[in-house]
Amino acid sequence: MVKAIVGANWGDEGKGKLTDVFAAESDIVIRFQGGANAGHTIINNYGKFALHQLPSGVFHSHITNIIGNGVALNINSLMTELQSVIDRGVPTPKLMISERTQIVMPYHVLFDEYEEERLGKAAFGSTKSGIAPFYSDKYSKIGFQVCELFDEQSLREKLIRVLEVKNKIIKTIYGKEEISVDDMMSVMLKYRDMVAPYTANTFDFLQKAIKENKTILLEGQLGSLRDPDFGIYPMVTSSSTLASYGAIGAGIPAREITEVVAVTKAYSSCVGAGAFTSEIFGDEAEQLRKRGGDGGEYGATTGRPRRMGYFDCVATRYGCAAQGATDVALTCLDVLGYMDEINVCVAYETEDGVTTSFPVTPLLEKAKPVIETLPGWKCDIRGITDFELLPENAKNYVRFIEEKIGFPITIVSNGPGRDEIIYRNYGK
Ligand code: GDP
Repeated sequence: MVKAIVGANWGDEGKGKLTDVFAAESDIVIRFQGGANAGHTIINNYGKFALHQLPSGVFHSHITNIIGNGVALNINSLMTELQSVIDRGVPTPKLMISERTQIVMPYHVLFDEYEEERLGKAAFGSTKSGIAPFYSDKYSKIGFQVCELFDEQSLREKLIRVLEVKNKIIKTIYGKEEISVDDMMSVMLKYRDMVAPYTANTFDFLQKAIKENKTILLEGQLGSLRDPDFGIYPMVTSSSTLASYGAIGAGIPAREITEVVAVTKAYSSCVGAGAFTSEIFGDEAEQLRKRGGDGGEYGATTGRPRRMGYFDCVATRYGCAAQGATDVALTCLDVLGYMDEINVCVAYETEDGVTTSFPVTPLLEKAKPVIETLPGWKCDIRGITDFELLPENAKNYVRFIEEKIGFPITIVSNGPGRDEIIYRNYGK
């Protein structure tokens, strides 16, 4: 069976922990989209890790970890990440890279930087990992698949063709130094040697695994609201963040994805620009930021302070629907234990009146939150593993959110550790 763990919001929902928990029972863990531009935080027996490209199954030696064809593969950073995990005592993970996965080229990273520099104040706040230029080239059909590294002559011929155009842009639009074919070729050959031991026909491997009833976990990056189609366009990422894209980005039949766990935090946070209706500011935001997650709400990849907000029922209901959630995991419930009262955004006030339907970007940008206030529980709930043993106000908070979003919260996470988890009719 295939299960997907995906984000219901803007990313950073705590997917890393959930994936780590579910990975233990899986045979295969697959990354199917995105690249080195975001990160998961995982805390386990080996320590605390920020994973960017490696699938979260790398801590379990029985798991095959796959970089799917939908990923933007940065070979240098993947290899550095792999080595750093091994250096910290994790047994060498089983890793496969699809031969169809495309490569983030050094010039994709440069184009990302140059374009943000050119845009100045209007910049997207890109992490400058080359993701947008990468996907542009993929769909313009001038990207490089991993398999192309193994045919030197065709590789050189294609590089000559592609660099001719890239260099014109570099020179005329950005006024920067041109890239030589020989330099790029030698980088490519290094890349080839680095990925050779891991490159495989993952399509056939997965078809067989499905026939053999293996348990497969699809690991999403970011969340619904960063999806290029359904998110807060244009402040989105360049590949689909939805579970259904897992079928394409991993290469498995769509009908096999029977469980979709949409992860959402008990409050909201958002990195980077874009409409964020339930955002809070000043001391109120700082208090939550400091206490949030494990050691504060700061980006796993960038270290940027995250924008903070009240739990947003409108965005989450929509985010869960876009994911096709069968289950919702509500994380970081423990973080709210300091609050006397907890505000929740239950609707939006828009030009067209009050709504619980998530609006398109131009309307969203003018939307104001409609707030309801619930009593807090004022105590530490870490260590509790039975939902019934939570303080009444904590239970009510979960039930309230569940009712507003209309999807079952079957998992509650009340601490960053693997065992700090409460199942609530999960799998029933
Ligand atoms: P991801 O990208 O969705 O995996 O999210 P991140 O890893 O960037 O952010 C989640 C943060 O919250 C990490 O620091 C986790 O260790 C932490 N975390 C996950 N679940 C919980 C929880 O239930 N309680 C607390 N306090 N922290 C959590």
